[in-house]
Amino acid sequence: MEIVHIAAEMAPIAKVGGLGDVLHGLSRASSGKDAKVEVILPFYGTLEKNEIKDLKIFMKELTFDFEKKKCPPTKVWKGKVDGIDVTFIDCEKYFARSGVYGFEDDPIRFAFFCKAALEYLLQNKRAPHILHIHDWHASLVAPLVRKNYPFTAKIILTIHNLFYQGRTSSDLLDKIDLKREENLSDPQESKDINLLKAGIAYSDFVTTVSPGYAKEISDAKGTDPLSKVLFDRKDRFMGILNGIDDSYWNPKSDPYLPLHFSDEKIGDLPPFLQKKGELKKMLRQMLGLEEENSPLVAAIARLTPQKGPHLILQALYRTLERGGQFVFLGSAPEGDTHEFFSNLKRKMEGSKHVHFELTYNEKLSHLVYAASDLFLVPSLFEPCGLTQMIAMRYGTVPLVRSTGGLADTVFDGVNGFTFGPPTLEAIQECIDKALHCWFDEPQRWRDIMEEGMRQDHSWTKAVEDYFTLYEKILDAKHLSLGTR
Ligand code: ADP
Repeated sequence: MEIVHIAAEMAPIAKVGGLGDVLHGLSRASSGKDAKVEVILPFYGTLEKNEIKDLKIFMKELTFDFEKKKCPPTKVWKGKVDGIDVTFIDCEKYFARSGVYGFEDDPIRFAFFCKAALEYLLQNKRAPHILHIHDWHASLVAPLVRKNYPFTAKIILTIHNLFYQGRTSSDLLDKIDLKREENLSDPQESKDINLLKAGIAYSDFVTTVSPGYAKEISDAKGTDPLSKVLFDRKDRFMGILNGIDDSYWNPKSDPYLPLHFSDEKIGDLPPFLQKKGELKKMLRQMLGLEEENSPLVAAIARLTPQKGPHLILQALYRTLERGGQFVFLGSAPEGDTHEFFSNLKRKMEGSKHVHFELTYNEKLSHLVYAASDLFLVPSLFEPCGLTQMIAMRYGTVPLVRSTGGLADTVFDGVNGFTFGPPTLEAIQECIDKALHCWFDEPQRWRDIMEEGMRQDHSWTKAVEDYFTLYEKILDAKHLSLGTR
């Protein structure tokens, strides 16, 4: 089986969030299968090139029509990342920028990427069985294949976050030789197009990254207009829970940790308790926090409204009132939230109980996961969420809002603590419950920790589910709207 993933991110060379982790984890774990897997990515100016092996030019010039004329100069590169075959579309005009996203012309950049990826496959006479496309950035591949290209591949679209849909002016269609039609139009602004909706309409099957989120976003009464679209094609939509890369996120061998531990027990006391204690001491020293007998509560997140910054703040205040310490590692791309947290950081400067690190810091994130006691994920919505699974693997108990993939992975009093309504009262109560357990019920706390550490969140199960789906859709006939 030949599978080609088309996506905007892949860790560690081009990662903004969970999408990058998924591309890396899924492709790497697929190598154990009898399949040829390739990932196509843009050649961003910010690619971590030292992580790419055998990087070589594959096509000095890829030419095709774009915007009714010859496309800007484009090259194709190939290389290997952790054993994964990666093909890069290199067009200076669109991808030699200071980041992956966030540019005014993002829709045209990724429309170009979709067309270039298909041209590369076509001009090399490739005939993959599966085109696996990810999020709105790659969604145009589906209508382009069904209308303008001769591929017989089945198409799977995975939605990593329904919040980002690629809404843009319908002028884009003319530039890539697609006609305006209902399947492409935005459900709210019919003069605009919605790229994710186009991907949903023309794919053979749509998945998202957890069963819980699948249920939430395909509810006909859901607040997002695309929920109705997903509801209408429920028979070709499902959630497959993401995994985490358990060799990268492994407390037994993590190169970022000064000492290692696992869930093995020697005698009555699990040795990881002592190791985690030492790591906590090191983290406290590093961040200028007081050494004392108190729980260390942590959160690591992009500070967008999705991650519930006001709930994180409430949890911080309550933790301090209850005698705990708090560490926050986060970057805040959105102006107001960034300013708010920067002010707060200034106000708390010199505190021996709170530390804010308002940057992206991969190395520090490993130590925070390993050294903390309680890990917060109070998201307003969460397609899957990786941080709660990473925290559990490092023996750090998650406290989450029960939504999407968080509800599929964290169970109250079993492997973590959960709360329902996204209110200040609810998170405060949940913090109280968790800290009471830490202070007054040490044996129960240990049981919860161990339960989390024992769980298998590797990619093995997800890869099985994806391959079962690939086989199912390869067997089925006339699935997509485009082939009806
Ligand atoms: P999302 O994709 O919505 O950002 P996920 O939970 O799916 O959320 O994935 C977040 C990933 O990004 C995790 O691997 C987490 O450790 C990492 N991460 C987020 N913020 C930071 C940060 N400031 N520093 C280091 N890693 C971070």
